[in-house]
Amino acid sequence: MKRRLFALALLALVAAPSWAASSCSTTVEGNDAMQFNQKQIVVPATCKQFTVTLKHVGKLPKAAMGHNIVIAATADEQGVLADGGKAGLEANYVKPGDSRVVAHTKVVGGGESDSATFKTAALKPGQDYSFFCSFPGHAALMKGTVSLAK
Ligand code: ZN
Repeated sequence: MKRRLFALALLALVAAPSWAASSCSTTVEGNDAMQFNQKQIVVPATCKQFTVTLKHVGKLPKAAMGHNIVIAATADEQGVLADGGKAGLEANYVKPGDSRVVAHTKVVGGGESDSATFKTAALKPGQDYSFFCSFPGHAALMKGTVSLAK
């Protein structure tokens, strides 16, 4: 709890005064059954930036049941996954410098969490975006949509 408050305080320092931290972030939980607890992330268009926090609520270590959250255009998902798989766990299953990736967290294991912040402007109107776990084999179950609220 203390750590979370500290993180929020840090975010508040970085953000513009008009930015409402409460609505410009979300927390997604991942578990040992290879599931996220939500299927969509809606980003309010009023947010300049948005933070996604992944909380692994399971017990398994990241080498066995690691999860991350990668956000990319839905059309790029398969390419990002293929290259991420080759990059390996040390690279959090994301190709270093992959320009198709809007944002991604680290791979976390049970009891761990990580956050990723991106500029809302990175989501282009008319483009479909997805979030998914790039741990090999997980994206079939661990995926959802990312959309800008109208
Ligand atoms: Zn996963």
